[in-house]
Amino acid sequence: GYKSRVTVVGSGSWGSVAAKLVASNTLKISSFHDDVKMWVFEETLQSGEKLTDAINRTNENVKYLPGIKLGKNVIADPDLDNAVKDANMLVFVTPHQFIDDICKSLVGKVRSDVEAISLIKGMEVKIEGPCLLSSCISEQLGINCSVLMGANLANEIAEEKFSEATVGYRDNREIAEQWVQLFSTPYFMVTPVQDVEGVELCGTLKNVVAIAAGFVDGLDMGNNTKAAIIRLGLREMRDFSKLLFSSVKDSTFYESCGVADVITTCFGGRNRKVAEAFAKNGGERSFDELEAEMLQGQKLQGVSTAREVYEVLRHRGWLESFPLFATVHEICMGHLPPSAIVKYSRRKSTLP
Ligand code: NAD
Ligand code: 13P
Repeated sequence: GYKSRVTVVGSGSWGSVAAKLVASNTLKISSFHDDVKMWVFEETLQSGEKLTDAINRTNENVKYLPGIKLGKNVIADPDLDNAVKDANMLVFVTPHQFIDDICKSLVGKVRSDVEAISLIKGMEVKIEGPCLLSSCISEQLGINCSVLMGANLANEIAEEKFSEATVGYRDNREIAEQWVQLFSTPYFMVTPVQDVEGVELCGTLKNVVAIAAGFVDGLDMGNNTKAAIIRLGLREMRDFSKLLFSSVKDSTFYESCGVADVITTCFGGRNRKVAEAFAKNGGERSFDELEAEMLQGQKLQGVSTAREVYEVLRHRGWLESFPLFATVHEICMGHLPPSAIVKYSRRKSTLP
């Protein structure tokens, strides 16, 4: 019979883990072709070897996920067009700042019957207004795009420690079930939810809350303060999502993509870690500098998302209603000191 072919577009730490999860299932489920292609943004390692060659030689992403075997059926490919051309299932998982250029270059290059899913946490703000990445992918390529979000620190899933995730879909339950089947393993439990905007906005906005939590950690403000910031952040996530899309469901915030992702990211994520260092340095060293020094090529999403959210808030006259989101951006920009995080975020907000 017909077999689905999967390509993973992206090969950072989460991209590599996504390829590992998917590849373990394509081997077991007969409706999928065994091989999983993984597009690699090519770079040359310090040894002089190309990253793609190193991945295909060792079966490990030696730079972004060292020490973890991806499965012999993961085939790294630096040629984007070649990597996607035969696929009817595309998994998008690059840092959000690169996806627009990737989509532009893919126009006319993907199969017309392709289904996509985005694991990317971020958003774009265009002149017309905010654009969810699943919509950007969908509109630019003329394809349907679901999302997968959740409390998913890549390094923990790489070690096969149990976690949950949420697939958000628009209207086709069968397609959602296919994605659930492709990603689910005994240590990765995936639940479908018919609320693509709510699921994606949870994944996007929690990175801004994680920056706030990092400031609290850097200033040694303690657990109660951090919990307060998490609660205020969750409330702004819910209110912002519902103002943008009235279809967003309250129940989505209780899925893995909601409260669980906020918790794990505010304790163990990269956004938290770099924001902590930013606050410890009193804002004297920029996020770009700290990111480059601390993350070895991995990318933060929270700082640019805070800017994108701020643009939406300013444009719509909602700044007063989202003091935590607004304050995170103002601290990142150096307009306020890190210590402002509590003083300003605690202002009582009233919705527009
Ligand atoms: P990463 O931060 O580990 O790695 C950065 C990636 O960007 C590398 O693959 C690098 O090759 C690539 N890159 C650098 N410059 C590029 C360019 N100009 N064009 C295209 N690619 C370029 O990546 P990641 O952790 O896989 O993150 C991808 C997405 O997944 C993000 O939106 C992130 O929020 C989300 N996510 C990450 C995790 C996690 O724990 N790492 C968990 C869940 C979701
Ligand atoms: P960080 O990018 O802050 O590491 O968060 C990873 C994540 O999205 C966990 O679900």
